[in-house]
Amino acid sequence: MRKKLLAFNIITSLVVLSLMFIGGIYISNQDNESYAESTAMEYAITYQTQYEMFGDIAVPENVSYRVTLIDTSGVVLFDNDVSSVASMENHLDRPEVISALAGNSETQIRYSETLDVDMVYYAVLAQYEDQEVIIRIAFSLASVRAYFYESMPILVLELILIGILGILMSIFFGNRTLRPLELVKSSLEAINRGEYSSIEDVTNDGDIDGLLAEINEINRAVLKGFAKVKSEQTKLNYVLDNIADGIVAINGRNQISTINKSAQRIFGVNEMTIGKPVEYLSGYSQFVGVMENKSDQIFELVLDKKIYLCFLNYLENPTNSFNRVLSIRDITERKNVEKMRSEFFANASHELKTPLTVVSGFMEILSLSTTDPRQADMLEKVACETQRMKTLIEDMLALSNLENKVVPDLDICNINQTCEEVFETLSIESYKKNIKLTSDCDVKIKISHKHLYELIKNLVENGVKYSKPNASGFVHVSAVQNRDKTRIVISDNGIGISKKHQDRIFERFYRVEKSRSRATGGTGLGLSIVKHIVDLYGGTYSLASTVGRGTTITIELPTM
Ligand code: ADP
Repeated sequence: MRKKLLAFNIITSLVVLSLMFIGGIYISNQDNESYAESTAMEYAITYQTQYEMFGDIAVPENVSYRVTLIDTSGVVLFDNDVSSVASMENHLDRPEVISALAGNSETQIRYSETLDVDMVYYAVLAQYEDQEVIIRIAFSLASVRAYFYESMPILVLELILIGILGILMSIFFGNRTLRPLELVKSSLEAINRGEYSSIEDVTNDGDIDGLLAEINEINRAVLKGFAKVKSEQTKLNYVLDNIADGIVAINGRNQISTINKSAQRIFGVNEMTIGKPVEYLSGYSQFVGVMENKSDQIFELVLDKKIYLCFLNYLENPTNSFNRVLSIRDITERKNVEKMRSEFFANASHELKTPLTVVSGFMEILSLSTTDPRQADMLEKVACETQRMKTLIEDMLALSNLENKVVPDLDICNINQTCEEVFETLSIESYKKNIKLTSDCDVKIKISHKHLYELIKNLVENGVKYSKPNASGFVHVSAVQNRDKTRIVISDNGIGISKKHQDRIFERFYRVEKSRSRATGGTGLGLSIVKHIVDLYGGTYSLASTVGRGTTITIELPTM
């Protein structure tokens, strides 16, 4: 910067001085020429007056100019510089002679071959009686230029001195100008090292000192900001490194931009993985498909006999350093417990179902063979309770499976088709109660078919079960879909649910009217199963019901 400024100043001064010098030469040359011209004119007019008065001219000796007397035919009659005018050529073609004859005298500058110098010529027409002559004055420019050439060395010396002075001044002022910039530079370097260095020097220039004070303030604020960011960063790193879940931040080029200690442990890598492609992580082949899918994903990963539940989330406002976060949770223990529990439930339900089937079989035989109406009534009640127990076991098993299931197996289901399957199952029941089952759901959804069936079945079944006695009712299922979610609405015109129960009916075993629910074979688990399915898919549910009018349940599931 300093060198550039100096070079710039020197070049500028030299250019300016050279221009001034050349300009000076030109102007001085012009001045000299016009002096010679005006002097030539002056002498010409003096000699013209002399001739017109006396019919001749008297030229003093040793004058610095040349006087030539020419007749109108161009013949030279007299020349004070030439002794024998007879040898001189005709001058009629000389421009100054032509202009004088035309009565329009003009000065001419040209090279004189006779005298071998540049000359200024001026001629006038003079008349004495009948005699007309041309009087021409010529000035050698050599004499006027000689003065200029003599003063040339002084001019050059002056130029050099001014040049040297200019360079010294530009070094001095350059240093003064650059000083504040150097102060700012060293202060910024200190900031970069994380130190605060205040600019103490003053330049005695109010504006610059004010600017330096301002920069001091900014530096202080920047350093404070740095310290805050650093402390936040330390805190964040501490938190990241001490959470049990593995966290990997990934950038748009599929490179790892951050990986916490837990993730390093899970993938058996170290901090050097930062900047490497995600493929570098062990087990990548298991989730390569997930990475290609440009949406949030949940998936399981098995590494070294351990099972991990992984969440891949896309950021709403991605930064340059990362646009996705992969979090990995060790669910090996949970999976083992889940396995044991589902095995236990499967075994227990199987064990319970077998005797219950036997009991209900004997019940049927007994009820067929008995003739006693009281006994027949008792046997029917026992058969009904046995069936309820079977349903209860099935519901509990379904609920337990739902609780344990983390990632469902997805199918593409047509909701209308699933509704038809449900209506088929409930056809006898709905026919008996004169309930019309309808659907308007020409929508496909990505969900486990079993879950969709369970969800619709439980809700439609409730609509049938809790209908008004002896009234022709309906249960209608409708569905609409947009880019983000699928909304399924199940409405009936049944008995409805009073406000005070509405908040609780999704709890397990919660029933508004125990006796009625029991009489319809309810277990109190139906809506609980619905809630679990909705939760599993990250959906929402809502209920609108009026006693005596009916119930509408709205389910919203994310469109996957
Ligand atoms: P249940 O097996 O008893 O039907 P649910 O969990 O399915 O259990 O329902 C909980 C309770 O909510 C039911 O006992 C019933 O009182 C009430 N309920 C559910 N759906 C409806 C409905 N469509 N109309 C009226 N009441 C309902």
